[in-house]
Parts: sequence; structure tokens; C-alpha cells
Amino acid sequence: MEQIIRLHDKRFKVMIPAARIDEVVEAVAERINRDYAGKETPIFLGVLNGSFMFFSDLIKKIEFNSEISFVKLASYAGTASTGEVRSLIGLNGSIEGRHIIVVEDIVDTGESIAHMVAELTKHRPASVEICTLFFKPASYRKQIPIRYAAMEIGNEFIVGYGLDYDQLGRSLKDIYVVTEEE
Ligand code: 5GP
Ligand code: MG
Repeated sequence: MEQIIRLHDKRFKVMIPAARIDEVVEAVAERINRDYAGKETPIFLGVLNGSFMFFSDLIKKIEFNSEISFVKLASYAGTASTGEVRSLIGLNGSIEGRHIIVVEDIVDTGESIAHMVAELTKHRPASVEICTLFFKPASYRKQIPIRYAAMEIGNEFIVGYGLDYDQLGRSLKDIYVVTEEE
């Protein structure tokens, strides 16, 4: 029997085992290694909190010199007219003229990544590419190309390996999906 875990009010079962995650991280790292060979030292920019585990595993497989940094997209309720306001925090040090590889846990509608790219572009980097562990192409609504998607999934809600359900589940080494099973 598959192990069912409970987080808050929902039950989850394993969808992608850790060994499979390792394979797709390896494959995406190989692509980045090929594409960035010989370029000026890029900066891997992790988006907290969700990307922390992917970031750590990915960076160990990167074979060229790189710098690392982390940012957070802080959401807070704005005024009634503006709705949700998101600001990019943690960007310290200049990214002007630098090659940036944004490392995300998951790209769904693309709202977060579009906001991120717009903010980063203001600082005039040499290039910005997106590397995400998961990509949901069926719900993606933006034009920004997702150059490095380690794995494409459907519209299911997943947790584990950094991804949370209301802050729980981030420490799980496998990816879990919601289930109705007991
Ligand atoms: P987007 O702005 O692309 O719609 O959504 C990106 C954010 O939504 C992610 O950073 C993540 O916080 C959340 N998200 C989207 N899909 C999932 C999912 O399947 N599981 C979890 N845990 N978070 C998700
Ligand atoms: Mg995220």
C-alpha cells in the first residue's frame, strides 16, 4: 500500500519519487552547463521559500563558476483599488550587466515569474532566464519563455521537495499530490 500523509485538512500520496526528481534535476543541470559554458560568471537567483531544496541540488550539479543569491516575492494586501501588491525583496548587490538564472520551484499561471522578470529587468542585467523544477503549461498565461523547465505537470496541486501546502510539506523528499484515498 502506498503511504498516505495528512497535511492540514488534506491527504496526499507520492506522485514523483525522489530518484525521479534527481534525474530531471540532472538533465536540466546538463542543459545549463552546456548553454553557459564560457559565459561571464552567472548569478543563480533562488526564489524563496519554495526553491530551496531544488536550488541546493541543482547548484551541486553546475560545473562552471557561479554566484548565488536569494530573493523573495512578498505578497501583502494593498489598497482596495490596487489589490494584491508584490514586491521583490533581498536583491542586494548589482545585477547590472550580469547573466541571471532565476531558480523557481513551480511556474503555474506565470504571474509571479512575470513580476520577477519585470523587476529584474529594471536593473539592466545582461540576460535573464528561468529555471523551474515544475511547469504547468496548461495554466500558463504569460509570454515569457520558460527556458529550463525540469518537468512539466498537469494542473494538480503538489507538495514536497520545498513546495508547501499552507507551510507544511516542504521537508518531504518526494513530491506528493492530493488524493481522495483513505
Ligand atoms: P504563478 O504565479 O505562476 O501562478 O504561481 C506560482 C506560485 O504558486 C508558486 O511559487 C507556488 O507558490 C504556487 N503554486 C502553484 N502551483 C502550485 C502547486 O501545485 N503546489 C504548490 N505547493 N504551490 C503551487
Ligand atoms: Mg515559488
